[in-house]
Amino acid sequence: MSDAMPVTRALFDEVMVPNYNPAAIIPVRGEGSRVWDQDNREYIDFAGGIAVSCLGHCHPAMVNALTEQANKLWHLSNVLTNEPALRLAKKLTDATFAERVYYANSGAEANEAALKLARRYALDTYGEQKQEIIAFHKGFHGRTFFTVTVGGQAAYSDGFGPKPGGVQHVEFNNLESLAAVMSDKTCAVMIEPLQGEGGVVPGTKEFLKGVRELCDKHNAVLIFDEVQSGFGRTGTLYAYEQTGITPDILTTAKALGGGFPIGAMLTTAEIAAHLKPGTHGSTYGGNPLGCAVAEAVMAVVNTKEVLDGVKEREQWFRAALEKINEKYDVFAEIRGQGLLLGAALNDKYKGKAREFLVAGAEAGVMVLVAGMDVIRFTPSLVIPETDIAQGMARFEEAVAKVVAANS
Ligand SMILES: *Cc1c(COP(=O)(O)O)cnc(C)c1O
Repeated sequence: MSDAMPVTRALFDEVMVPNYNPAAIIPVRGEGSRVWDQDNREYIDFAGGIAVSCLGHCHPAMVNALTEQANKLWHLSNVLTNEPALRLAKKLTDATFAERVYYANSGAEANEAALKLARRYALDTYGEQKQEIIAFHKGFHGRTFFTVTVGGQAAYSDGFGPKPGGVQHVEFNNLESLAAVMSDKTCAVMIEPLQGEGGVVPGTKEFLKGVRELCDKHNAVLIFDEVQSGFGRTGTLYAYEQTGITPDILTTAKALGGGFPIGAMLTTAEIAAHLKPGTHGSTYGGNPLGCAVAEAVMAVVNTKEVLDGVKEREQWFRAALEKINEKYDVFAEIRGQGLLLGAALNDKYKGKAREFLVAGAEAGVMVLVAGMDVIRFTPSLVIPETDIAQGMARFEEAVAKVVAANS
């Protein structure tokens, strides 16, 4: 295959496993919150690579960190440690409740580590009858077989043979439904403080506080999956900071690397002690390139200026969406926190979220969906006000088109 061969969307269907159905365009270049496709057509990016590109595309802080590290040292494996990994772990533990860090390459891997650690901690501390894991309907925790089984959509975990056992699901934001199944056999509760894939649904403060109390009552480990809600997305470094409670284990990925694949599990020294040498691992986890980039991302994101800026941008997004809604009456509700926002469609447009996404792309703005009824916005945390205004003008065009097509 020569470099001159044309690369088209059609090639995807010839050479790729068909588990995705990507859009017709192929982006080739990005800068800040703008992306250009093969025909040099420009898009404003309100999707951020699914809540990943927290500093937009090719932010100089990330490019510099990656280039500098690329000329020093790429990879060692876990037989050796490295400076960026240790520096980043120090910064993550200084900035959070956590005292220990385990590195992974993705959100699913960070969650896999969290679940295995919770099981091992319970086994060592309380015995083998304590192994029930409780999670929530519509929760999402990744696609490994354990994490997808803990996720709350059976459709994603069905059809692959016997599932890992000891996993139960209850209703999100419903404390009674959790209390009804919790017992001293409960090993862990895994929860997104703000459900992302499940429709951008915030856990209420009272609910999350109740979850913490039930975990304490039954000596169960509370795992916060902050893969999507974390790393500045909600206006604090992690969303748990705004809940008044603290988890025992927290997982982080997506925005952590700003586009470089890296994930991490954070926990206390007491719980971490149960992942003894040989119990778990990863060849690439904590590699110098990823950790150097994450360090650079954190230096920008974990500042008052950027975190306050997230809350300010949330207001700009909400105002623009409310204004569109006044004119076209398509949303039942704008919800979420910081720059993880969902526009839930009203009854007339229920099930049609994808139509808005497709019309958006045609109008030159990239948005996401969260299920069939919610349009999701997860832009760069530093997206300029002018890009928001221009992107929203394009999104309004898209909304007008969908409204016209449905009237
Ligand atoms: C995206 C996501 C994951 C999975 O992360 P991957 O990097 O795709 O493995 C897990 N949990 C939540 C809450 C997510 O949003």
